[in-house]
Amino acid sequence: MSYFKFYVDDELQFYIELVSRRCEGRTKNNTRCKRKTVIGTPYCRSHCKTYKHVEVKNSLIQNAGLGLFAYDKTKERNNQPVFKKGDIILHYDGQQISRNQLIARYKEYTAPYALKKNNNTFIDPAGDRSLASLINKGQSKGNHKNNAQFAQSLNVVAIRPIYHGDEILVSYGNRYQMHNQHVRYETNRKKPTKYDIQRLEDIHEEQ
Ligand SMILES: [Zn+2]
Repeated sequence: MSYFKFYVDDELQFYIELVSRRCEGRTKNNTRCKRKTVIGTPYCRSHCKTYKHVEVKNSLIQNAGLGLFAYDKTKERNNQPVFKKGDIILHYDGQQISRNQLIARYKEYTAPYALKKNNNTFIDPAGDRSLASLINKGQSKGNHKNNAQFAQSLNVVAIRPIYHGDEILVSYGNRYQMHNQHVRYETNRKKPTKYDIQRLEDIHEEQ
């Protein structure tokens, strides 16, 4: 089991157990893949390469955790990009929640993974960690320059050619300010403590 935990001033504000899914890929014998996937749904590490041409591994950005890299050895041999400018890389999948649910989870703080779908609907992969949610934020210039952006219908689209082995980095826009000193979050196997959960319930009762 893995848990996402979001703290405000060191108090647990929201937590969720990550869903585990069976990989949607198919084997060579055309039976369904038996592997489970928690980080990078809906494919296992092997099938996300064959179906989506991406690989999950440690980000080149310091302290960013996992990241997503373009993967296609055939394209590499032919010196072609895995994704051409304008190609859809992935759709931004996750749990669909309302604006009220978003506020209940994160209050006025920026949700680490949620994106706005329309005025009242948000996609939050905090508890359903889709492949696209592993894409890190890049910079407008320098070594970690963005090569993708969010386009219509929450698709992640290449804005430059992306070659095999390149980390996919997306522009999150100006509204995204995760470096808030009051907030921290983590995903790991540690279940929130009984004390944390009790505090969380007390806070929600007070409100
Ligand atoms: Zn699989």
